[in-house]
Order: sequence, then C-alpha cells, then structure tokens
Amino acid sequence: MALTGIAIFKLLPKKNCGECGVPTCLAFAMNLAAGKAELSACPYVSEEAKAQLQEASAPPIRIVTIGTGERAFKVGGETVMFRHEKRFENPPGIALLIKDNMDNTEVDARLARFKQLQYERVGLTLRPELIAIKNESGDNGKFVEIINKIKSSSDCGIILMSDNTDNLAAGLQVCAERKPLLYAATNDNLQKIIDLVKKTPAPVVVKGSNLDEVADLTTKLTAAGINDLIIDSGAKEIKRAFEDQIIIRSAALNKKFRPLGFPTIVFPFDMTADPMKEAIYASIFVAKYGGIIVLSDFQGESLFPLLVERLNIYTDPQRPLATTEGIYEIGKPDDKSPVLITSNFSLTYFLVSGYIETSKVSAYLMVKDTEGLSVMTAWAAGKFVADVIAPFVKKSNVWEKVTHRKLIIPGYAAAESGGLEEELPDWQILIGPRDGAHIPAFLKNWKA
Ligand code: SF4
Repeated sequence: MALTGIAIFKLLPKKNCGECGVPTCLAFAMNLAAGKAELSACPYVSEEAKAQLQEASAPPIRIVTIGTGERAFKVGGETVMFRHEKRFENPPGIALLIKDNMDNTEVDARLARFKQLQYERVGLTLRPELIAIKNESGDNGKFVEIINKIKSSSDCGIILMSDNTDNLAAGLQVCAERKPLLYAATNDNLQKIIDLVKKTPAPVVVKGSNLDEVADLTTKLTAAGINDLIIDSGAKEIKRAFEDQIIIRSAALNKKFRPLGFPTIVFPFDMTADPMKEAIYASIFVAKYGGIIVLSDFQGESLFPLLVERLNIYTDPQRPLATTEGIYEIGKPDDKSPVLITSNFSLTYFLVSGYIETSKVSAYLMVKDTEGLSVMTAWAAGKFVADVIAPFVKKSNVWEKVTHRKLIIPGYAAAESGGLEEELPDWQILIGPRDGAHIPAFLKNWKA
C-alpha cells in the first residue's frame, strides 16, 4: 500500500539541503507521495529506507524511456485520469511503421516524410518521435539491413518488431546503444526475452490476448528484474482497445494495481483499413490514454491534426503557454519603425507577430510578462495596465532603438492610454486595433 507523505518524511534524512530540487525534506516527501518526484533525486536516503520507500516512490504508471540523448523519448508517469485534475505529463509518442519487405523507394519516401512532416507552432516544434521497424519478411538479414539504414538516417527512437526472438536479438545487437523498444514479450517467448534483456537491457512491450494475461506477464518480468515495460492489450478492434486503455489507466491510478502500472502501445491500423478512420482512432488514443501510437503511414493532413491535438491535451491547464518578456524584432526594424506592445500569452504573441509580418512593415514588438494571460484577461486582472506597462517601457532600452516616441497599445487596453500618457510623458500613446487581423491595415498608415 502506498505510504502517506508524513510516513515517507519519517524515513527521509531530514537534512533540508534542497539537493532534490525542493527546499525541505517534507516538501520532497509530499511530492513523492503524489508521484511527482523520484526517490533517486535525494542522494542521502539510506538503503534501509530505500527498500521501504520503493513502493511509495514509484509513480503509479512507470516512466519508460526509449532512445538516448536529445531524442530520448519518455512516456508514462501519469498521475491523473483527467487533465483538469492536474495535468497530463508525457505526451504519447507517434510512430511510423516501416516493414523490412518494403522496397527501397517506399522506405526512402517514408523516411523523407518522417523528417519533413514537422511543424512550428507557438514556438514549439511538433513532430513524430519514433519509427517502428517490423520484421514482416521473417528474414534476419533483411531486418538487420533496414535497422542499419534507419539508424544511420535518423536519430529518432526505434521500435523493433518481430515474432522471431532470434531476429529480435539480432536487431537489438545492431542498435542496442539507441535503447530501442522491443516488441514483444508474450507467453510463448517470455524466458527468451528475459534472457535477452538481462544480457542487453532495453524496454520491452508486453503483449497478451487480454489484460489478465498482460498482468501475469508483467508480474513475471518485474519479478525477473525487468521493469521498463509497455503494454499491448492485444485488442484488434476499437471498442475493446479503447476500453482497455481506460481499464489500464484506472487500475494503475485508482486501484494502485502495479501489474498494469505501465504506459501502453496501440496500433490503430490493426483496427481499420481506412486511413481516415485510422487517423480518427489515433486521435481517440491521443486523448485516452495511448502511450505510443503506431501509424501505418504519415500524411500531413492526418499527422498535423494529431500533433496539434496532442499539444493541446498535454499543455498544462494551470500554466498557459507563455513567451519570454522582451523586445522582439519583426523584419528589419530601424529607428523609425513602429513599437507595439502586447501580452506574453504565446498565442497572442504568435498572432500579433504574424500579422506584423503580413503587413510587411518592420517593427519592434514589446512583450510584457502577464503570466501567460491574453491582453484582455491580463488587463482585467490588472497585469496589463498603465502601472505595469510604463515601468516595463522605462526599464527597456526601446527608446535607444527608435528616434520617435510612439507606442502602439492593443485596442483591448485602450482604457490605459490616459494612464500611460501620464506615466510616460515623453511618449505618444496610439491605440491599435482590438483584432490582430486589422494590424496590417493599421500599420499601412504608420508614420514615425
Ligand atoms: S535531498 Fe534529501 S536530505 Fe536534502 S532536502 Fe531533499 S530529501 Fe531532504
């Protein structure tokens, strides 16, 4: 049974040294109890206490890492059923399927799509993370050959899929340093997989024909010391696959049932032959609760909406996406260019900067930290008012960049113009449009 924060605190060293990232042992204990910290963050826990804390410190859904270095992909670690309770932690990985019996042209085309289909949105790069290499041919040599090709052309995470454990072992030898995910341990090959992973550590998918079988397999693997596991419930139709995701998440979080406390992998293309339905099924698993979603192919029109959906669902609802406070140059502004100011809600920044770009008038865009609130909300909350904006303008060096003294404020903050004129007597305050879409027309009339 999980320990309470106070029970955990009693076992900690009570140095209050802060090396674990929080100032006190009590705060660390509370984080451990909530599954928000790893015991390994404290270097001073005794071996005896470690043994007692093992269960309490483990997150209810294990965090599994595939790959290494910058492209290491982390999945699991979830602590809530619903995003509004706190937040979802690690976005599901999106994987592209490549089979070893595909011809070279097809493999090259898929690799090209994997690399090209990435998108910039609100300052983030949205892209898929993994390639699933399937030993469809059953041939050891072909499998190794395609793994080598993919390994040398991309630093993405790799999933090795084969029904033949010897081929899986050969594939693992080729790319062990990339820490690939092995697919899959089953009732039929369990001991061979245990032997393989003990020799060459790698995360493993556990595949059962139902959840009872999965739980039995994960119990045996963890007893053998293999803990980096991902679950394939074996469902081949959407209704059961969807139900399985919910049962797994609920069993791990609400019942603290350790044998199902692992992230999952799903294959929507096993549930339909229609690419459009496959994308829709994938979107269901982005929302509930796929850990890795393997797609039969990538096309921009289906991949982009999935990436955006994933971004939206895995954004912390308590922390709006924010842009860093500062002065941003749009185009090639000079000393006669307009100066605009806005809030640091990321979407506001990217819309306003986009509209300035559209206007083809180079400008300075001042971004005030409003804790990620939009202009209207920040204004209503007193975070984008004259008393706050004026000191920011004074402290900035914007006045060194331009020879004029005109500041364009958003239309939604028009009520602040009087206050700003008082606080910034050298500046003329111009009221810009309420709707960012009207910025290009507004800037057409700009005169320093
Ligand atoms: S590192 Fe360990 S001893 Fe130091 S504050 Fe954190 S829990 Fe306490």
